[in-house]
Amino acid sequence: MTTAIDVQVRGSGIVGKALALALGRIGVTVALQAEPRRADAPEDVRAYALNAASVRLLASLKVWDALAPGDATPVYDMRVRGDDGASALEFSAWQQRVGELAWIVDAAAVERELDSALRFAPHVSVGTALQPAALTAICEGRASAGRAELGVAFDEHPYGQRAIAARLTASAPHAGTALQWFRSPDVLALLPIDKPRGGASYALVWSLPDARARALLDADDAGFVAELMAATGGAAGELALASRRAAWPLSVGQARSWCGPGWVLLGDAAHVIHPLAGQGLNLGLADVAALVDVIAAREPWRRLGDERLLRRYVRQRAAPTWAMQRTTDALWRLFSHDADAFKGLRNQGIGAVNRITPLKRWLTAQALNS
Ligand SMILES: Cc1cc2nc3c(=O)[nH]c(=O)nc-3n(C[C@H](O)[C@H](O)[C@H](O)COP(=O)(O)OP(=O)(O)OC[C@H]3O[C@@H](n4cnc5c(N)ncnc54)[C@H](O)[C@@H]3O)c2cc1C
Repeated sequence: MTTAIDVQVRGSGIVGKALALALGRIGVTVALQAEPRRADAPEDVRAYALNAASVRLLASLKVWDALAPGDATPVYDMRVRGDDGASALEFSAWQQRVGELAWIVDAAAVERELDSALRFAPHVSVGTALQPAALTAICEGRASAGRAELGVAFDEHPYGQRAIAARLTASAPHAGTALQWFRSPDVLALLPIDKPRGGASYALVWSLPDARARALLDADDAGFVAELMAATGGAAGELALASRRAAWPLSVGQARSWCGPGWVLLGDAAHVIHPLAGQGLNLGLADVAALVDVIAAREPWRRLGDERLLRRYVRQRAAPTWAMQRTTDALWRLFSHDADAFKGLRNQGIGAVNRITPLKRWLTAQALNS
């Protein structure tokens, strides 16, 4: 089949947009299928924790440097507390000998800068229609229609939890410290971000059982903040809501196959994980980097849709994705047990890990490099 374009990218989330830009930069012609944005669609209130590899990819696409001050905030320290509030696991960039542990980025700002870059991208056209192409890259997220059309099964296990996200302001400066509570039945993260109020704002990710999450979404602002203050015990000072609240159902899942003749899956269309470690998008952006490397290094005679070529990408990505899924799932299981014996054990575990510097270094390195 002769086609006018090389790659059709289906799905214009961060993974799809980054893939279109990255392919365009190596001279591949791309059509990016974007669903028309509803005028009344609210902005994403999430902020993402991005690792160094994701930052490098966005920098190579000229997106990172275009972010406004306040859209990206470095994390220098991270404090994880257990059920009793006393046992804590502390990570620092200084101990890890890196500049920062992660960056917290405004999700809507990253999308906006990707859109701007796409307007000037050579070889990339953006539209709503699907076009015949040598390769279709499916980046439509966990409920991908393209994946379903191909008949590819998605093994998904719901956690019976929802993650509530919102922006907060705080009475105390965040000092570049991420605060996390791992306990039963919730996992709560306050991620430092310099928007909307200088050095005193956080992005909230609060994972809770469905019924509890629904009750917190239905509560009025004052009721929600009172629950949040009780859950954080004032560790971040007085907190106030600075955005609407939004929630996402949580699951772990994986597509049975990630590629076939003329098609490939990336990002959440291929795999989803619990957000407790802030790694889902990092995995998706690592997929982008791997696929673009594989395509750039292909033999001159090899077609883009050749399944043997696409399997090189899957071989690179399957093991790290599997490891991250297992790690986040095991953490969730460990912390979702309510029994006192479990609570005692995991609190002791947190304390013990905190005292073993090489183990902490190893754990941090896994998160930084995944
Ligand atoms: C509360 C929460 C917090 C998180 N925090 C972090 C974090 O700190 N760090 C991190 O790395 N990850 C985090 N994640 C995970 C991250 O959000 C996802 O891994 C990431 O958004 C996946 O990107 P994607 O582009 O693959 O999919 P999506 O973001 O789901 O984007 C898919 C896009 O495709 C579009 N689409 C779907 N169907 C079609 C179609 N038929 N045609 C055209 N377009 C279509 C959709 O509208 C959407 O725009 C978090 C997740 C949640 C829920």
